[in-house]
Amino acid sequence: MIDIMNFRTGFGYDVHRLGENRPLWIGGVKIPYHLGLVGHSDADVLIHALCDALLGAAGLGDIGNHFPDSDPAYKGISSMILLENVMRKLSESGGWCLVNADMTLVAEKPRIAPFIGEMKKNLQKAMKCGYSCLNIKATTSEGLGFTGTGQGMAAYAVVLVAKNDKTA
Ligand code: MG
Repeated sequence: MIDIMNFRTGFGYDVHRLGENRPLWIGGVKIPYHLGLVGHSDADVLIHALCDALLGAAGLGDIGNHFPDSDPAYKGISSMILLENVMRKLSESGGWCLVNADMTLVAEKPRIAPFIGEMKKNLQKAMKCGYSCLNIKATTSEGLGFTGTGQGMAAYAVVLVAKNDKTA
């Protein structure tokens, strides 16, 4: 019988502005584009939404609590390192591990679809989960709003985590 107390869901949302002279990192992949996301870290909006969803599921607050943008230690840091760190925090705070994650990136340009497989491989490695546990979707917002006009990108993530009884 499934013990529902051993499952939790989490939701994450993030936004970053697009700017010049920045590489574009999404899902741990450096995507060729003339603009990049602006932020204290590498500004990987998809991974930030995912981290917030994971922390939310475990009741551990948000990414800003754990990796404040006022801390020089995180300046320019790869969000892949933040994600690995978040997974460690989940494991240490009661043995939470990922069941699945579903993510949506909202960006008008560039085309993201060709990079999704590589993103999933990166995240799979950092999260030590199966490839099929991860789903990444990309959509435009039909030219509307800050994402539609190319001012920035947004990302949403939902996760399900389970408690590993052996470590609980
Ligand atoms: Mg962010």
